[in-house]
Amino acid sequence: MITLPKYHGETAVFGLGRSGLSVVRALVAAGNRVSAWDQNGDQRAEAEKAGAQIRDLETEFGAPARLVLSPGVPLTHPQPHAVVKAARAADVPVLGDVELFAAAVCNMAEHPKIVAVTGTNGKSTTSALIAHLLATRGAAVRLGGNIGHAVLDLDMPAQGAPTVYVLELSSYQIDLVETLTPDVAVLTNLSPDHLDRHGDMAGYVAAKSRLFDMLAPHATAVIGCDDAESRIIADALHASGQQVCRIAASGDADICWRDGALVAGKDVLANLEYAPALRGAHNGQNAAAATAVLGALGHGMKDLQQALEDFPGLAHRLQPVGNYKNLIFVNDSKATNAEATRQALAAYENIYWIVGGRAKDNGLLGLDAFYKNVRAAFLIGEAAAQFKSLLEGHFVCHISGTLDKAVYDAANHARADAAKRDVTGSPAQAAVLLSPACASFDQFPDFEARGDAFCAAIAKWQSEQTSAYEGAPC
Ligand code: ADP
Repeated sequence: MITLPKYHGETAVFGLGRSGLSVVRALVAAGNRVSAWDQNGDQRAEAEKAGAQIRDLETEFGAPARLVLSPGVPLTHPQPHAVVKAARAADVPVLGDVELFAAAVCNMAEHPKIVAVTGTNGKSTTSALIAHLLATRGAAVRLGGNIGHAVLDLDMPAQGAPTVYVLELSSYQIDLVETLTPDVAVLTNLSPDHLDRHGDMAGYVAAKSRLFDMLAPHATAVIGCDDAESRIIADALHASGQQVCRIAASGDADICWRDGALVAGKDVLANLEYAPALRGAHNGQNAAAATAVLGALGHGMKDLQQALEDFPGLAHRLQPVGNYKNLIFVNDSKATNAEATRQALAAYENIYWIVGGRAKDNGLLGLDAFYKNVRAAFLIGEAAAQFKSLLEGHFVCHISGTLDKAVYDAANHARADAAKRDVTGSPAQAAVLLSPACASFDQFPDFEARGDAFCAAIAKWQSEQTSAYEGAPC
């Protein structure tokens, strides 16, 4: 746990999920007075057990010295939450757990390095890869934030080994931080997402770029330059004198992914063809970013081949989870927007695509170029009818409704197609791909539960097949 200072006055904590509860625990451990509230009674009970005083902050805000807000609570859009309005009216600062972490870092005797990673897509993969590569270089790594542990649940710096905190930060978390000074800040890419919470694309871009406004002069900004918005940020930082390392998966940059290899100038740094968890151009972008971070921290960018090959990847991101004859099942439940799904449709051929859920504003924008890789689509969730009208005419479309049914529909359809093609020769490899391009909340608590349900349905389908089974269950 991160050691926090003892603050004057009471700290109010609103929202008691993973990060909110970690805030309560860390504040109480440092002898602070904490009041806390969440709509959920179980969460309130947890906070009370951890030493918080339970008070309905919506109806009885009281006089706290600061409000620690869960990143899930609207700060500005669609409109500020009632508790934020109460704090603003009483001139009470509103901050997040990452801001408490930033303050704690200033008090640490052995000053650790901090790497902050943001962007629309690839944050988790890039953060996990940075942590993996740094560990192979002998650093003590603490990985957390929007991935794994909440920041205040991370261990304090190691004694005697250089410690690096690798923090994945969402735009909501960046909204609630003022004084974090990362040694390296990474922007993977920008495309429209979470616009309901940021008003519009300009608001979303502004939220992400705030991280880079906090950089100290010695720090390095690693910017993915495959999209126009990110290039504008890179140019502005460069013009202001900041150290900028540009990375790209399409076109030239300081470090780029080209024909499956990571290249810096004339040097080939590594070949990703042999790194199974880094398949596709998007992972080329992630690997280029991670390599740039190693360079910026002085760990060198060469001799990374083995470490890249050994990277295990993350669950729910283009994760192969089973196979049956020539059919592979791929769990990309984390693809909650069109840009993420575009990478999946580009990475496979003969796709039986399970898509749908709660649609994002940009729907299936920009995916048409890859429809040639799709054989049939199986539509689920709230978006099913809307997506069917968009996809019909390109390939066969079925409304399956639920994920369980979609797995059966897709796998049976693929098997029948393979049998037809078998008459003339062995069937080509095909993929049943869950890459929903949607949020999961209409049918599941989160994308992990959706991915787990996908795996469970595959295991059931596989166990019911009478023909020779090949491959491992998921
Ligand atoms: P995040 O943490 O930003 O959501 P993840 O690493 O968890 O990103 O990946 C989420 C989804 O985005 C996955 O489905 C993956 O296929 C896709 N993805 C990963 N990296 C990138 C990238 N650099 N550009 C576009 N899409 C990506």
